[in-house]
Amino acid sequence: MTATTLAVPARIQRGRTKGWRLADATTNPNGAVIVSGSSRFANACTIAVMREMRDVDPHAAAAANFRMWLAGDRTNAPTDEADRRRERILVSVPELRGKDVACTCRPDQACHADELLRLAGMPPAEYDAWAARVRARVDRGRVSWGDAPIYSDEEKAAATHGHAGFVMQQLLGA
Ligand SMILES: [Zn+2]
Repeated sequence: MTATTLAVPARIQRGRTKGWRLADATTNPNGAVIVSGSSRFANACTIAVMREMRDVDPHAAAAANFRMWLAGDRTNAPTDEADRRRERILVSVPELRGKDVACTCRPDQACHADELLRLAGMPPAEYDAWAARVRARVDRGRVSWGDAPIYSDEEKAAATHGHAGFVMQQLLGA
């Protein structure tokens, strides 16, 4: 097998101009997924907010915030809405496997998409175990804030996407 037959998922920069096409921006045969802005994979901790907080490196701060939050840290967002948003990402990461991810950040800037790439590149069983630990952490955080847990014991022991997705649908009232 040569390098040219391997699709190495990468982060690419999403264009903002009219007529820009994701398909033209990637050479990955598996395609690419937009993870910026209003996408399901967006970073709720925006560059703009970090800039307002006068962080010296807003991009790095926003990316670091995303990493911690996605790993189950509820410190900055102890809400049902944020927990639902996190779970939506957790169950969707497998859709990114093998694909490029596109954000508006320049390649030389830190970006939350790098964490999505890392998670999508994990062996599935390893990722499932990681996600189960995140869910357990989220529930511990919820309980410590006096909120009801949102996950079953099963999901916190060894998550399976199907089941987690089913529980989320119930939670979302779908
Ligand atoms: Zn970005």
